Amino acid sequence: MKKLYGGIEAGGTKFVCAVGSCPDDLHNEIRFETTTPGETLGRAIDYFKKQNLKRSLASIGIGSFGPVNLNKRSEHYGYITSTPKTNWINTDFVGIMRKEFNIPIAFDTDVNAAAFGEHRWGSAQDIDNFIYLTIGTGIGGGAMVDGNLLHGMSHPEMGHIFIPQDIKSDPYSGTCFFHGNCFEGLASGPAINERWGIAAKNLPPDHKAWDLEAHYIALALVGYICSLSPQRIILGGGVMEQKQLFPLVRKKVRTMLNNYIIAPEITQNLKSYIVPTGLGTQSGILGAIALAEKKILDINRFCNH
Ligand code: ADP
Ligand code: ZN
Repeated sequence: MKKLYGGIEAGGTKFVCAVGSCPDDLHNEIRFETTTPGETLGRAIDYFKKQNLKRSLASIGIGSFGPVNLNKRSEHYGYITSTPKTNWINTDFVGIMRKEFNIPIAFDTDVNAAAFGEHRWGSAQDIDNFIYLTIGTGIGGGAMVDGNLLHGMSHPEMGHIFIPQDIKSDPYSGTCFFHGNCFEGLASGPAINERWGIAAKNLPPDHKAWDLEAHYIALALVGYICSLSPQRIILGGGVMEQKQLFPLVRKKVRTMLNNYIIAPEITQNLKSYIVPTGLGTQSGILGAIALAEKKILDINRFCNH
């Protein structure tokens, strides 16, 4: 019988919890608002306790908003650290879950988890070096390098790079709590809402907002392409529901690169280089399930050696 895994997509606005083993076997999904750590983690714990009574879970995977501490040697491993959601600063996410469940807990950023889900079942099944970027309430990116999620010093914060802004044509000061006009500050959903005074999803597809949005996204992608050389870039999140952005972004990326990088992905196949998610809006929760699955595979591999 297939193992059953638990998954948590822990977002800054909502939590999604589910159990399952793959996209065709994902059950009992629940969603609730992210409020205080006590209340929110309490709801997640109650949910998994109920699920565990029906059938034992092998492990739980968590993809969390952050920044988070992913350094296994740190005494604060598994904590949410310096988030603008001030009541979540220094929350021992993994420790609180471990106290309640005597099973392995996998933990990574929400975007690394989503990238992992896309690699397992989505748009990156055939490659081992790619980026997953979400453009929604915030902007975040996860990266896989040679089949491993990129962590490094802590984890990438691709939404907080600085990109050039022409303040004559766009004087908007940006939404980022920490940096003002970083990429997230200029191009997240709330930035679009505030700049134009209309909710992003109500702006018509031919509104000039989308050309500016595509410009900012393309600037960021060119930065990632030149620094990480990904084999593909997957774009998700609420803002990318505006499908007209894809051709605009591809065209601007090609123009900005200006024939410098000579690779068929850029010169011939941009349509399959800058792509939407393969798992729709489920990359995050399925990624959490995939992290839980990997945790068990890693433990088994270690025990067999
Ligand atoms: P989150 O980032 O909170 O996990 P989403 O990725 O769904 O969730 O992003 C929500 C944000 O995306 C909202 O702030 C909104 O501005 C924007 N958004 C949602 N739907 C659309 C849409 N259809 N078109 C443009 N923007 C959208
Ligand atoms: Zn920022």
